[in-house]
Amino acid sequence: MITQSKPTIDIADAEAVCRGILSGQLAQGSVVEQFENEMSRFIGVRYAVATNSGTASLHLALLALGIKEGDEVVLPSFVCTALLNAINYIGATPCLVDINENDYNISAEDVRRKLTGKTKAIIVPHMFGTPANLDELLNLSIPIIEDCAQSIGASYNGKVVGSFGSASIFSFYATKMLATGEGGMILTNLSNVSERVKDLRDYDVKPDYLVRYNYKMTDFQAALGISQLGKLEHFISRRIEIAAQYTASLSDLDVSLPLHPKDKEGVWYRYVIKVKGKLEQVIQRAKEKGVICDRPVYKPLHRYLGLPQKQFLASEKAFKTALSVPIYPSLTDAEVKHIISILKEIC
Ligand SMILES: *Cc1c(COP(=O)(O)O)cnc(C)c1O
Repeated sequence: MITQSKPTIDIADAEAVCRGILSGQLAQGSVVEQFENEMSRFIGVRYAVATNSGTASLHLALLALGIKEGDEVVLPSFVCTALLNAINYIGATPCLVDINENDYNISAEDVRRKLTGKTKAIIVPHMFGTPANLDELLNLSIPIIEDCAQSIGASYNGKVVGSFGSASIFSFYATKMLATGEGGMILTNLSNVSERVKDLRDYDVKPDYLVRYNYKMTDFQAALGISQLGKLEHFISRRIEIAAQYTASLSDLDVSLPLHPKDKEGVWYRYVIKVKGKLEQVIQRAKEKGVICDRPVYKPLHRYLGLPQKQFLASEKAFKTALSVPIYPSLTDAEVKHIISILKEIC
């Protein structure tokens, strides 16, 4: 069976974790700080604060930016529920917008249409490893939280994503570009945001009482993160290579292939095609042949919230046609060939 996602773990990763657990320092310590420093250097942003998930990172980023009950936060509909949860954790009001049909990213045009006097932040996920149209979004002069959970290492106009927003968040969940099991990070150039996030992720040894969280990463996860980060460049080049093979081999099928925007260097977290037939059937037939293709987003948020589908036409289309084909560094050339032949049979 060829799975939809798979972490790329080698002996060096395992040894880094072993050294970590044998060191006796299991909880957050100096290795977490080292991982933060390496991420800060890699993204080119002054402060980095590690957490135990991308969701926790979003939650703390919203809090640190001063978002509170009654404030509106804009997010796209075609994304996982983590974003919606983070907004609801603090009682802010989610404002869903549609996506671009071509790159699945948040539609700057729809954001502009839905801004109100209460809009306090926009969460911008760079979907499937392709950077969103940051210029248009930054022009709106509303604080942006870049969600780089799927896009570490991608760049926009020659600069890595995660360095454009007021804050950016990352996830190191098992299926992401870099894996630490669970894990996340917040990056920002704003010292007050960094200070608040650091304060809120840990509840202990505080002079005052304030509702705080236990969102800390462990040192052995950070050790795995550092080891993985050292291989990111290789991970990305292998993903690009596989994407190129798919693009070359699938172009005569009756499917739409993903775009390669010129001003953006994506990292191919997902290779998402649009199929013509019934999506459920394609997924089922691929599975019967041993390849797990899947919806890249389980269900768009407007469907969970019961909002009118006609306001989210591109998200709806993506929900009905988008298929994520396995792509990860550890796929062998033979597996890639096998996936291509299966897709040729069923599409
Ligand atoms: C995975 C993901 C998250 C949530 O990260 P967790 O570490 O699972 O909490 C948030 N946003 C996007 C775009 C993601 O892909």
